Amino acid sequence: MKLESLNDLFIKELKDLYSAENQLVKALPKMAKAAASDELRTAIEEHLEQTKEHVERLEEIFDKMQASHRGAKCKAMEGLIEEGKETIKEEGDDAVKDAAIICAAQRVEHYEIAGYGCARTFARMLGDEEAANLLQQTLEEEAQADKKLTEIAESSINMLAVESHH
Ligand code: ZN
Ligand code: FE
Ligand code: FE
Repeated sequence: MKLESLNDLFIKELKDLYSAENQLVKALPKMAKAAASDELRTAIEEHLEQTKEHVERLEEIFDKMQASHRGAKCKAMEGLIEEGKETIKEEGDDAVKDAAIICAAQRVEHYEIAGYGCARTFARMLGDEEAANLLQQTLEEEAQADKKLTEIAESSINMLAVESHH
């Protein structure tokens, strides 16, 4: 795919996000299942439901542009998920493993935040306010998910710190 215009780049970024989100729809149930704490499992499951909406929002944008969402594989998300899988396989203390799962999940959220930030800005520059608003909505949900993970990490890491004094 040639990048001759901002519109070409916009579509390229959307395809990357579309691939990333679809990979996550498959991967998040496994991460949720691996979480030991109810709080973490619930947070991941809730974000899975949001992730399905993120896919739908992207489809809405592609439809309006009459563009195909095919033809891209987000290799970065593939790698992040691969690392997440390795984390899940690790043996060890439940709380430490949960902290590791949170790290993996936050890497995913930060990648998405970067991608949606770029795509939202391109939509605005192209004068596509509707797409910009949809992308902004998703961006905010990714940021909320990231914040929630930080909160869970802080409470569980506090627990670990207390335990390690014994
Ligand atoms: Zn998402
Ligand atoms: Fe990517
Ligand atoms: Fe996400």
